[in-house]
Order: sequence, then structure tokens, then C-alpha cells
Amino acid sequence: MWRSLLAFLSLCFALVFAGGARAAGPCHTNADGWQAQGLANAASAYGMEWAPFGAAEWGWQAYLPLIQHELHTPCGPGTPIFASQLAGFQQTHGLAPTGLFDAATFQVFRGLWQERRPFVMARVGGACPEPPPINQLGYLVASEEHADRLTRLLRRDVLDAYRRLVAAARAEVPEVAANPELLQIFSGFRDPEADAARCAQQGNCDGLRRAVCSPHRTGTAVDLYVGQAPGLGVDSTSPASREHMARTATYRWLVANAGRFGFTPYVYEPWHWEYVRSWDPSFAP
Ligand SMILES: [Zn+2]
Repeated sequence: MWRSLLAFLSLCFALVFAGGARAAGPCHTNADGWQAQGLANAASAYGMEWAPFGAAEWGWQAYLPLIQHELHTPCGPGTPIFASQLAGFQQTHGLAPTGLFDAATFQVFRGLWQERRPFVMARVGGACPEPPPINQLGYLVASEEHADRLTRLLRRDVLDAYRRLVAAARAEVPEVAANPELLQIFSGFRDPEADAARCAQQGNCDGLRRAVCSPHRTGTAVDLYVGQAPGLGVDSTSPASREHMARTATYRWLVANAGRFGFTPYVYEPWHWEYVRSWDPSFAP
């Protein structure tokens, strides 16, 4: 019952967002060729049933900012420009250039995003990077720590880059300027032994792999507060939580700008960012 309601609502969204034949503006300049695909994308953005990370999800709003960034367009999923940019991406990556978002296209996006994380590539190669020497770590100041914090340390050069990022965000995003909680850190460097002990104690390791070799052991990964859905945690992976975060001005700014400061995203966790300049933990800042 509720699923047919969802489908109906998706169609309503599609009609509203695609705007039918009356739509105009720079996101609709090629409407003749891609209008139908835009309509289909607008519906699937809210209603597509799929399981990109194992559990069922509906729609792909949680990934929209990253996808738009990759396609070099601010246009929404219901627009002809988005569809034509998507077709170009599909063509470039050996997929049929349908202009329609689907799970296969998402897997290509996801592969690109993961390849930009040196930690992930090290893991793919079978390695687990060593933590940095303790003298390369620096303490956050109190105003940088989120109330839900797990840790207080980051590698010093990463901490410097984080501070430059926050200063820029405050200058460029009114939402961040107005709310000191935004972009505070709730997890930075995590000592591998303490991580393993906590996972054993809480019986919540999200698989042994993550407990044994978390990116947080490098001192280059940060969990940033980007807002939270009502009733859900700062690091809740539920679709409602991740969708909420993806809609915030803070997250959208990070997607567009964090790279300027050396940070790259992790698609499944809007709060988790990794510093990828001078990534090697043996690097002495
Ligand atoms: Zn994290």
C-alpha cells in the first residue's frame, strides 16, 4: 500500500520538478532531446527501489550532490541538462548513453569516488596503513570538537588543512557562519588498539575488517558534523539520515569545495572525509 503511495508521490515530484513543457532556464536549454529522460530521472530520484550498499533504499537523493559535482552541473535530476550530462558520462565510461540514472551507472560513479581514496586503494592492495608516529598528531581545540566526539587528535598537517577549510566555509556559507556546531569534528585519529577494544566491548564492529583497519587509524580521516535528521545520530547510515545530510548547504559546499583543501568524500557517509594530499603516514609535515 505505502509503496504504491510512494510511486504516486514520485510521479507528483517528477511532474513538479520536471515542470512539463513550460520549464525554462539554463537547465532546460536542450529540452527537445532530453525531456523524457529528465522526467524519468525525476521519478527515480525519489522512488527507485535498489540496494547500492546491501540494504534496500528508495531513490538516490543522498548521492545527488556528488553526482552533480561529477557531472559538472548544478541542474536537478529532473532536467534535460542533467540527463544529457549523464549520457555523456555514460558514454565516456563505456555504458549505453541513455541519460537515465540506474544502478550500473552508480557503480561507475562509486568506483571513481573510491579510487580517489588512497586508503581504499591500499586496502585493495592488501595493505593496512600504519598509524602515524604520535609526534605527528595534534590536539583539536575545544571549539573544534563536537559534543558527540570519539577522539581529539588529527595528524597536524590534516588539522591545518581542516582549519583552512572551516575558515573558508564560514566565509562562504551563511549556514556555517551562523552555527558553530557545523563542521565540528566528532572523530579524527583513532588508535587501532582502542578501536579494536571498543568494537569487542560493544559487540558492534560492522564486520571485523572495519574494526581491524579503519581509515581513522591514519590520522587523516575526519568525521564532520553536517547536520542530523530529527531523532537520528550524527553518523546514522539510515537512508533518511544520509538524505537529510545530503540536502544541507554545508554538505553541498563540502562536495564542491573540500577538494580545494585536500579532502575527498566517502559516498556512503556524508560526514566522513579523508585528506589525500601527502597521505602517506610516514610523511613528516
Ligand atoms: Zn569516519
